[in-house]
Amino acid sequence: MTFIEALNSQDLEKIRKFPKADLHNHFVLGGSREYIFNKTGYKIKSITTPLKSMGEMDSWSSKYIGNHFNSPEGRKLLIEATFAQAKFDGVTVLEIGEDVWGLGEFFDNDIEKMIFCFQEANARIAPEIELRLQIGLSRHCSVDYLMNCLSHFWGHKEFYSIDLYGDELAQSIANFIPIYDKAAENGLVLKAHVGEWGTAKDIITAVELLHLNEVQHGIAAVQDENVIEYLIENNIRLNITPSSNVLLGRVSDMAHHPIAQLYHRGVDVTIGSDDVLIFNSDISKEYLRLYQSGCLTKEELDDIRINGLRDRKNKASHRSTNNGARIYKEL
Ligand SMILES: [Zn+2]
Repeated sequence: MTFIEALNSQDLEKIRKFPKADLHNHFVLGGSREYIFNKTGYKIKSITTPLKSMGEMDSWSSKYIGNHFNSPEGRKLLIEATFAQAKFDGVTVLEIGEDVWGLGEFFDNDIEKMIFCFQEANARIAPEIELRLQIGLSRHCSVDYLMNCLSHFWGHKEFYSIDLYGDELAQSIANFIPIYDKAAENGLVLKAHVGEWGTAKDIITAVELLHLNEVQHGIAAVQDENVIEYLIENNIRLNITPSSNVLLGRVSDMAHHPIAQLYHRGVDVTIGSDDVLIFNSDISKEYLRLYQSGCLTKEELDDIRINGLRDRKNKASHRSTNNGARIYKEL
């Protein structure tokens, strides 16, 4: 059976069997409901109808997440739950990581301990998954504070990428230039959340100032043909999260999600989950929903899936590893 046939059958179990990437996943909210329930007896419900305000999302967070996981053990459990979820979903490339403030809060400011926690959970729960460890930044934090936290992270080759998230309108993107310059020196893939709440122009500004390789969301690009062309010319990848966009009211419905237009124009797009626990958005469900809504054809979705599995950073080395060869053979 091929992935195209699996989509055609509209059978999630079959879709889950094929390798997929998740390059837009906030692990704190990326876990398996079942795993968390089995370990804690604690039930987390997802959102099913679009939110009317960000206040509604905050009340969801305080009800279901609150302080329940605010301990080293709680954080560890969420990391494990995220690998369990990705394994169940057939995700074979997973890009996740801790927010820089979490290092002091949950790992005694010990970077080796933090890295070990992710790698150990990876090896124990889902060794078939390629972990791309990410450094996370919240946009509302001051750059001085972030730089201070980041001093523990620089030079650690285990990190693959850096991402900026949180309130897109909290402060000017230009403030983050020194951080991204340093991240580029460290050889990290440069990513940031832009063009979800902001405009198409914000996407170009962020890419130019921070030299981004990839944009989380970036769906506002669809409003401006020049921005679309800019993304294509500069080979900028967009890691798009359809269910999240619909439930946060950024897009009217799945059928009209701009991923179709961006893909048809030739933008490099991938499909991510954003927050599995909030949006009930695992990767297999995202593919199925895009197919069932008529947004993209099954052949197009397969093309996007295969594209997401490409390692743009380590093109040459990827194929030479056993893991890489295995993934490519299974495509
Ligand atoms: Zn996100």
